[in-house]
Amino acid sequence: VIRCKAAVAWAVGKPLSMEEVEVSPPKAGEVRIKMVATGICRTDENLRQGLFPNSDFPIIPGHEGAGIVESIGDGVTSVKPGDKVILLCVPQCGKCIFCLNPESNFCLKAHMFETQCVLPDKTTRFTCKGQQIHHFMWVSTFAEYTVVPDYAVAKIDAVAPLEKVCLLACGFPTGYGAVINAAKVKPGSTCAVIGLGGVGLSVVMGCKAAGASRIIAIDINKDKFPKARELGATDCINPQDLKKPIHEVLIEMTGYGADYTFEAVGKLDTLAAAMTSCNPSTGMCIMAGDPPAGSMLTIDPMLLLTGREWKGTVLGGWKMRDSVPKLVSSYLEKKFNLDVLNTHTLPFAKLNEGMELLRAGKR
Ligand code: NAD
Ligand code: ZN
Ligand code: ZN
Repeated sequence: VIRCKAAVAWAVGKPLSMEEVEVSPPKAGEVRIKMVATGICRTDENLRQGLFPNSDFPIIPGHEGAGIVESIGDGVTSVKPGDKVILLCVPQCGKCIFCLNPESNFCLKAHMFETQCVLPDKTTRFTCKGQQIHHFMWVSTFAEYTVVPDYAVAKIDAVAPLEKVCLLACGFPTGYGAVINAAKVKPGSTCAVIGLGGVGLSVVMGCKAAGASRIIAIDINKDKFPKARELGATDCINPQDLKKPIHEVLIEMTGYGADYTFEAVGKLDTLAAAMTSCNPSTGMCIMAGDPPAGSMLTIDPMLLLTGREWKGTVLGGWKMRDSVPKLVSSYLEKKFNLDVLNTHTLPFAKLNEGMELLRAGKR
């Protein structure tokens, strides 16, 4: 058993609390990892606020992590102690109907099918003050050590800088893959993205790489615009500066609506705006943001009758165990500018400051 620090969310709405926790050794098929770096994604804050579906407290959040294998359980052959790895919040078991389908990345072991608040044997590897602490999407990267099933880990190039490539665990692949894999944006098209956090800025990068001729970037925080422009946005709009609703403005700007719209906020009103502002016949709206757990959206089905498509994406559609090592190689070959998403680097003890920067829209 390793004793180390972890950030525990004891109950919904409470700030994360830095605690000393015990991390049990990996059981058969599991891997214990020494965490080196973790990103902070809006989903971690959603979890803390109780907006993430099927989550059990107390829990250790965090799902954008990279580290080094410390030890392995019986039967693990894919990684060995000392390997650099990225943890996968959507696993790839390699055996289920979705893993066997080349078009799908949504493994049956993913949290939406089967809770990942406990490991597959239905127990946790974390305890604190005599209490069992739950895992978050198995990975719980806000801990100095964590334990995950081996099919939730991808071995990556030994030269990769872990404090940079941890962002390849969620934000970047989600936004970039939403464009490349889910929408398959065609060169010359007009794209609009609502929300310019880590996911939305990665959408902008994807649209630029796909050869979009116009990239309209929308956020209520104008501080996000310089980066969006640097990454290829042609127009930046703050809905709060407008006299009309954003979807009306987008339709006016594009004639009949954008070819592709992306929602990267995770709110119902922005999702409805993204839906209504894509081309009614050939347009496609991609939902990359996570709507709050249990929320419902009423839409006029005529929106779809005319031909527009509405699609969601989990982690941008990548089969993570296969794709993450390739994304790391592409990063090392400088095929995309991941570092632009890295706004602050803080020591682990200041994790709550990082969460505050996220809430303040500064990261
Ligand atoms: P973030 O908080 O960093 O960014 C969200 C951005 O939206 C902010 O810049 C904010 O100013 C902006 N915003 C808020 N309200 C707005 C409004 N009404 N109009 C326009 N802009 C608005 O979040 P993030 O980490 O980039 O994550 C974005 C969303 O994607 C979240 O819902 C997150 O849970 C979700 N997510 C989904 C997946 C997936 O697999 N589909 C993966 C990662 C994250
Ligand atoms: Zn995330
Ligand atoms: Zn699977």
